[in-house]
Parts: sequence; structure tokens; C-alpha cells
Amino acid sequence: MHFKTTGIVLKQRSCLNEQKYMTLLTPEKGLLDARVRVFGQVNKSVFRNINVLGYYHFNIFDGRYGCVVDSAEAIEQFFDLRYDPEKLALAQYFCELTYLLVPSKQRASRHLNLLLNSLWLLQKGCYENKFIKCVFELRLLSLSGYMPNLVCCKVCCNYEKEQMFYVPSQGFLICSDCLRFNQYGSEVKLTKPVLHAMRYIIYKDDKDIFKFKLEASQLDFLSKLVEKSVMIYVEKELVTLKIYHQFTGEFG
Ligand SMILES: [Zn+2]
Repeated sequence: MHFKTTGIVLKQRSCLNEQKYMTLLTPEKGLLDARVRVFGQVNKSVFRNINVLGYYHFNIFDGRYGCVVDSAEAIEQFFDLRYDPEKLALAQYFCELTYLLVPSKQRASRHLNLLLNSLWLLQKGCYENKFIKCVFELRLLSLSGYMPNLVCCKVCCNYEKEQMFYVPSQGFLICSDCLRFNQYGSEVKLTKPVLHAMRYIIYKDDKDIFKFKLEASQLDFLSKLVEKSVMIYVEKELVTLKIYHQFTGEFG
């Protein structure tokens, strides 16, 4: 069976002489493993250009031995990211994290749009890398079935008391009054701007999630908290994140 789809290359699993095995993120079929080989419309130059971060119109043959790319036409390859090692590392981390968190065998158009928008903003340099990173991470968690409950205190249901805490391991809020009677051991004291930013990223419409501002010290705090939350679900060290931190000089 032949079908057409758009898709971004998230991962290249192996590359033989004239054959690559890749994982694509597509809107309708979610994660899709496909083989690309030099054959027919995929000539050597097309083959060479299909790499991680490339976004294409694909024609795919789904056969007995899996999916094979018949043709690929580039929509966006995010080439400019390759001139900035820190951005490139971050873009690759976005791809790796998406690969790990997208639920399998499900539509993934919202994941795909989030990834494409984040890569586009990263390439344009519209926002600080760190800002794009924490919006991407928290929204990706939310889209992938790990949305924290930030509506109100889990115990007394107050929307916002003087001091709110976040429990990353369980993804909920608790106020200082209720915390006196319930100890979780890993609660993080939130500032108001950080709580508002987290709520904004989680609950706003897809198109608006980047439209807010946060001062530098609050962004630092949010960035560490969100990364810690992501790592709880990923449960392993990500090489791409380690490389990104080597450029920023931050380590976890
Ligand atoms: Zn409470």
C-alpha cells in the first residue's frame, strides 16, 4: 500500500552504504519507522539530504518488510541551526525527547506542530534558547499524558494561597497550609511568576504558549524545575541533553 504523509526525521537508527533506517514523526500515524534507500526518485543527493531535523512530504510504500520511502520533497530542513552548535544540540534534544515521549500508534499532529514551532523559533532566534526549551518540555509532557495538575492545591482546592509548592514526582500543587499535614519530601517552593508561567504553558491554546515573558532569574528557576520534571518521566540520561549542557555550562 502506498500513502503520502508529511513528517520530520526524529532519529536515524543506522546508515549503510545506500540505505538508512529512520524514525519519522507524522501527523496521522505518529511515530513511523521507515527505510530510505537510493532507488527510483530517491537519488544520491536526496538520500544524502534526508537527515534528522528534516521535514518532508513523503511518499511511502508500506509493504511486507516495513515502510520504504519512495520519494521525499523537503519542506524545511532547519539548515541554519547547523551554524550554531548550542541550538543544534537543543534541536536534537527536542527530537530525542519527542521520540521518547510521544505515545506510540496515535495521531501526533499536536506533537508535530509543537516540535516544528519550537525548531522554527529556535532557528529564528525570537526567544532565548532556555525559554524555548522549557516551554517545549512542559508542553510536550502535557501532550504526552503527563500533564501536571496545576489548577489548585490538591488537598484544599485553593487556586492560589500565599505560598504554593509543586511536587514534581507526582505532578501536583499543594499550598503551605496543607503541606504541614502532608509531607512529600520532594516539594519545590514556587514563586508566583513561575507558577503563572507553568499554568500558561500547560493551559493556553497551542498557538499562544510562547507569548509570555519571564525575568531571567525566574526563567532559570523554571528551566531547572521543568527539566527535573521531564527527567522523572524519561528515567535515563539523554546524550543530546548532556551535549546541550556542555554548551551552556549548566549541568542538570
Ligand atoms: Zn491546600
